[in-house]
Amino acid sequence: MSFKKLSSTVCIIGAGPAGASTSIFLSKKGIEHIIVDAAVFPRDKTCGDGLDLKTLRMLNHIDRDIIPNELLGNEHFTVSSGVRFISNKGVNSDFIYKQPKGQEDRFPFLVAKRFHFDNFLIGKIDRKTADFRQGTKVKTITKEGNDWKLIAEDQDGELEITCQMLIGADGDHSTVLRYLGDRKINRKHYFSTVRQYWKNIDGIHEKNLLEVYSPSNIPMSYFWIFPLANGEANVGYGMTSEFASKLNINIRESFKELISKDPALAHRFKNAEPCQEIFGCGIPAASLKRKVVGDGWLLVGDAASIASPTTAEGIGTGMMTGYIAARFIEKALKEKSFSEATLANYSREIFRRMEGEISKYNFFLKFPSAYSYIANNLIGDNFFCHYYVNKQFSQWMETCYDKEVIINVD
Ligand SMILES: Cc1cc2nc3c(=O)[nH]c(=O)nc-3n(C[C@H](O)[C@H](O)[C@H](O)COP(=O)(O)OP(=O)(O)OC[C@H]3O[C@@H](n4cnc5c(N)ncnc54)[C@H](O)[C@@H]3O)c2cc1C
Repeated sequence: MSFKKLSSTVCIIGAGPAGASTSIFLSKKGIEHIIVDAAVFPRDKTCGDGLDLKTLRMLNHIDRDIIPNELLGNEHFTVSSGVRFISNKGVNSDFIYKQPKGQEDRFPFLVAKRFHFDNFLIGKIDRKTADFRQGTKVKTITKEGNDWKLIAEDQDGELEITCQMLIGADGDHSTVLRYLGDRKINRKHYFSTVRQYWKNIDGIHEKNLLEVYSPSNIPMSYFWIFPLANGEANVGYGMTSEFASKLNINIRESFKELISKDPALAHRFKNAEPCQEIFGCGIPAASLKRKVVGDGWLLVGDAASIASPTTAEGIGTGMMTGYIAARFIEKALKEKSFSEATLANYSREIFRRMEGEISKYNFFLKFPSAYSYIANNLIGDNFFCHYYVNKQFSQWMETCYDKEVIINVD
């Protein structure tokens, strides 16, 4: 058994979308660092596999050539032109983005299995500035003065890593959060979800719309069908854990029942077959407003509980935290201080972008029947659709494709 020692000013634990993005944006600033992940890529991660506008925006911030040159036409990535809301009355409301002339390469969503997307993203980690170690699991974390000491394990045995700035990018079951004593679940701000890949589902839209359905008898819950590139689809179901617990709902059983019996869905699955067992996993929502920064540490992605509380999407928000974190680390290095005071505004910068979604979600928590009403009635309304398709969608597209994310570190 060998005992290796590594040292760097900055160390990132976790190379999912949040950790990989932190690494990529640190490298763009020439900041050397260590990044470790317990898994060897490609690896699966239970997810809906939907890459939203925040994700596309971050990919454009990494390199504007990625989407047109590497992802369009890529066999593992499906281009989706919009969203279909399925109502319990059997009405489909389609929000399809129509590209203006000259912008035919713009679209609102991609879908890719995390097996492929995360592997693609780690391929962008710059090995000149990043010492990237896969198959390296951090087991213990201690602090000695201003230095962090991590004990990790890889295939050769134990490894000791020392650093001054620790980035927790290790997801919902974060070891960093456990060290900080903050890995408790607040069910109001946490979604319990399941996912299963299926094939031969009937009625997938030719433009690969992401389909969402909110059963009216189960509050604050959503079912999805996201088309994948290989003719399969990512099918899943999730709900606010507080409601699942209070109403004693078994998500797996409800998922199976929706597929086999719900009149809005069952006919679609008559000829379909599951490709795997059902996988369950949680999603920590930004409405929790977790403490995300302290002396010599900072959290990104699911470890920071930053998934959108209205859509449960956490890939783009996680990548965004990585982008913002890199700016604060740059500031800390310039000021030669990793104190909480130097890094404190990181918290403001990540949460201010989520405020709109957080207040909507908090409203729905108080009035859960409003959620179901909007999902099943208002979304089918012509005026509402018109407003969203023409106005909101165009604004989101413009922000994603044309606007740089502005960060104020002071
Ligand atoms: C069922 C479901 C559906 C979802 N659907 C969507 C969707 O369609 N779109 C969307 O945007 N989001 C979706 N999400 C949310 C999304 O999956 C997460 O928000 C996202 O994965 C967060 O990225 P991350 O990098 O923070 O964490 P992760 O992707 O979890 O990555 C964490 C990494 O840390 C590593 N790690 C953990 N512990 C250690 C350790 N001790 N040492 C070393 N490495 C460690 C892990 O191996 C892993 O690679 C969904 C989630 C679920 C559960």
